[in-house]
Amino acid sequence: MSTFQAPKGTYDLIPPDSATYLAVRDAIAAPLRTSGYGYIETPGFEDVNLFARGVGESTDIVTKEMYTLTTKGGSELALRPEGTASVLRAALEANLHKAGNLPVKLWYSGSYYRYERPQKGRYRHFSQVGAEAIGTEDPALDAELIILADQAYRSLGLARFRILLNSLGDKECRPVYREALQAFLRDLDLDEETRRRIEINPLRVLDDKRAEVQKQLTGAPLLRDFLCDACKAYHEEVRELLTEAGVVYEDDEKLVRGLDYYTRTTFEFVHDGLGSQSAVGGGGRYDGLSEMIGGPALPSVGWALGVDRTVLALEAEGIGLDVPAPTSVYAVPLGEEARRVLFGLVTELRKAGVATDFAFGGRGLKGAMKSANRSGARYTVVAGERDLAEGGVQLKDMESGEQEAVALGDLVAVVQARLA
Ligand code: AMP
Repeated sequence: MSTFQAPKGTYDLIPPDSATYLAVRDAIAAPLRTSGYGYIETPGFEDVNLFARGVGESTDIVTKEMYTLTTKGGSELALRPEGTASVLRAALEANLHKAGNLPVKLWYSGSYYRYERPQKGRYRHFSQVGAEAIGTEDPALDAELIILADQAYRSLGLARFRILLNSLGDKECRPVYREALQAFLRDLDLDEETRRRIEINPLRVLDDKRAEVQKQLTGAPLLRDFLCDACKAYHEEVRELLTEAGVVYEDDEKLVRGLDYYTRTTFEFVHDGLGSQSAVGGGGRYDGLSEMIGGPALPSVGWALGVDRTVLALEAEGIGLDVPAPTSVYAVPLGEEARRVLFGLVTELRKAGVATDFAFGGRGLKGAMKSANRSGARYTVVAGERDLAEGGVQLKDMESGEQEAVALGDLVAVVQARLA
């Protein structure tokens, strides 16, 4: 060990486990890439006010969890705690919404930072793959995103996840509900901090995890009963489209989520094998966000799925992804001349698309064969002076143990044929 360790609340992705992370990222992105979503990458940090305004001044993310910094030039920045505000900022800055092709559909993959109390499934640095569809109000778009996330999880073999669905209303009906909820909450027996929350963001109180709070919330007014006709019809359409697509979901009237910008459709993917950190992904419609960050009105919808928790969900279900061994052929030279010849062959095999590795460092046969075994390679190519004098190498099948001489000039073709 060195003097240093990974900072608290973080961990390193290390082979062979890191291959699972890559596979999860790819699996989540795959349905997006074939559904018109283009890849976007934004900086790891932004003007701190983008998140303060976008995510919400009263949210935990902004008040407690942001990593903020002042640069030497005096700029106030924050490491990004989430993806949506950045992606929308970038889309507006590049005028993507003016290209006459709405919705602007984008997907992203990257690192996010929140100063949280670390525990299993909750880290200070984590990864998300996300998707945003900007500039269009259409229930089919909300449904599309949920269907694509469902498809991604199913393609990984996950079965024990559930989709929770709710509507948060819009700027017409939500304020009416907000007042009714506040009136109800003010009469409850709650601590100071929660009382403050009632005034700033009462919907978040519904999200309180404490049993003594939840008990008092029975009988709280439900947003469902306050939705305006337009929101009701919109939500009904989303639900019908999901049902027609065969996506199973649960209506959850108490689902509010921790970010201020959501309107209408909100949803969360939860996994039942993860304990307290059960949300593997979530998202929803954010029709007001663009205006909140100084842009035009652009109704939009999106989600972000957590890569770390998706990997934990796979573990919980005992699913091992079929990640191919990174090496198909391992070359073991015996002696200096063989080193030169085999090193050349390794490059040729790689050019031909065969994943190949080489016994570096001039170790003996025994040590090199151990490495060959560990690499997971299906074939080993061994060559010493005698083989080379005969113009060939030994090709060993690591599964059957069989070995045969192959002429130097035939090796690439023979290996390709065997692996096909
Ligand atoms: P949120 O933006 O909070 O809705 O997060 C979306 C998804 O990102 C969650 O469902 C988690 O899978 C993941 N996520 C959020 N915060 C963390 C964290 N601190 N550690 C690990 N994953 C997280």
